[in-house]
Amino acid sequence: MVMWGKAMSDSTIDATLSIEVFVTCPNDDCGFYIDLLRQEDTNNVHLDDDGYVTRQIFSPSGEYDDFECEEVTCSQCKTQFNVNGLSY
Ligand SMILES: [Zn+2]
Repeated sequence: MVMWGKAMSDSTIDATLSIEVFVTCPNDDCGFYIDLLRQEDTNNVHLDDDGYVTRQIFSPSGEYDDFECEEVTCSQCKTQFNVNGLSY
């Protein structure tokens, strides 16, 4: 058996971090699955301006009960709502 991995030199590449924070639109007639970090999902509002959302995700305390995102608007039905709490 040939161990190719040992013969080849290690390459160094970039990693890509992908974050998605989902909520379901509270409008029962809609139920759109919204990614809070996608402007297309939140009525073209960039919620993570100044790291408003991601800053809370990478909480140094490891506590996410205080996670909040106010005045989110669903792109599909234009319902506005607040998010409070985050589960992994
Ligand atoms: Zn909706």
